[in-house]
Amino acid sequence: MQFRDLPSVDRVMASDGMAALTEAYPRDWVVDLVRRQLDRARQKIRDGGTAPSAGDVADGVSGELRSMTEPAPRQVINATGVIIHTNLGRAPLSPAAIEAMTQAARGYTDLEMDLSTGRRGSRQAHLQSLLQQVTGAEGALAVNNNASAILLGLSALSVGKEVIVSRAEAVEIGGGFRIPDVLKQSGAKLIDVGTTNRTYLRDYEDAITENTAALLKVHTSNFRVEGFTSEVEPSELVALSKEKGIPVLHDVGSGALLPTEAYGLAHEPTPQESIAAGVGLVFFSGDKLLGGPQSGMVVGTSELVRRLERHPLARAIRIDKMSLAGLTATLLHYLKQEAESEIPIWRMISAGEQEIKDRAERWKSQLALPGEVISSKSAVGGGSLPGETLPTWVLALSCEGSAGGPEAVMRNLREAKPPVIARIEDDRVILDPRTVLPEEEDSLLTALRDAISP
Ligand SMILES: *Cc1c(COP(=O)(O)O)cnc(C)c1O
Repeated sequence: MQFRDLPSVDRVMASDGMAALTEAYPRDWVVDLVRRQLDRARQKIRDGGTAPSAGDVADGVSGELRSMTEPAPRQVINATGVIIHTNLGRAPLSPAAIEAMTQAARGYTDLEMDLSTGRRGSRQAHLQSLLQQVTGAEGALAVNNNASAILLGLSALSVGKEVIVSRAEAVEIGGGFRIPDVLKQSGAKLIDVGTTNRTYLRDYEDAITENTAALLKVHTSNFRVEGFTSEVEPSELVALSKEKGIPVLHDVGSGALLPTEAYGLAHEPTPQESIAAGVGLVFFSGDKLLGGPQSGMVVGTSELVRRLERHPLARAIRIDKMSLAGLTATLLHYLKQEAESEIPIWRMISAGEQEIKDRAERWKSQLALPGEVISSKSAVGGGSLPGETLPTWVLALSCEGSAGGPEAVMRNLREAKPPVIARIEDDRVILDPRTVLPEEEDSLLTALRDAISP
């Protein structure tokens, strides 16, 4: 009977290394972890396994404690060349944004106090004036993220009413965020018009009733329909909406405040152009092409923004003081015309090919490992600009001498401190300098040496 061989809690507690653990952590916790490890061992025995020794259980407990007490999320080095990598936390922040967030975290702030009167103020006031300036909108509001901004907008303006959306735009953004579901959750009724590939202005026009609350336009940011397609421009929807007295709502997704076409990419819709076209409310993310912390923005007419501010959901999804500080500092870069040099994602997007090639060459010569610098493609990512790439230069390392080949090297890199995320192409490990921050280079090279040396 394997169960009889299972060590007792006391025996595990007396094993090597356990004394150090009970010095660092409350004894009760450690005992709890031992019990849980033993429960798991019992289940394994039931499934036909063998009993672990006291030392095995102790090792399991210390491993569990080690991973539990590591900082999380952990810093990783992004050598994938995907600039806004959702799994890696989207946009890295500018030094000014980081400083602002640190300040906000460290002490008290005037978050909701008007210092000129000493009375209660709005946490949104400062940000509002920046967003007004940058986007040209009358009113502005920042919340937790774009998904919640859209939910708030639809809940505040269209509960019990109809919202007209093109069939081509009733999309899933990712992470379970689907436009039809969000509409349902907000209490609005989705009226989808047109077809998957073609929607005309008259489709919207024909669907408008006295129960229509809004026309909703959604940027299909994470896929592209090509060929026989047609969509209705925001300005055309605005003309129709003015005639009928119902607002146009526009989810532009990534929040590009700079023209992406100036960097050799397709045009990504900007909040400014929607506002200029007369859209009632524009929604966008703060941590995609805006390059700030997680947040969601609503800009538009004062009247509509006020209706959102007064809705009870606004309190439930409000932005926290640290994100607010980071967002304010990030928006300021746009106002000061220094976004391209100060905001990391724009520095990555605008990095010159020669500069990237030089970095890859420098890595190659410093590493002295078998590999070559080859031309490749970086992606913007983050569900924006699908299929759009930027020409780049990467270091391609062949892993022939390494046990386990490229897969093993990738695993070693993920276990490095800090972990390095790369990709495999043609049996080689590919490292794109575009997304590696300059201050991460030394750690990257150390990790590569350790990961590849056989
Ligand atoms: C990314 C995206 C969202 C969701 O934004 P979050 O800030 O991640 O909540 C909504 N709509 C569009 C079109 C998007 O691209």
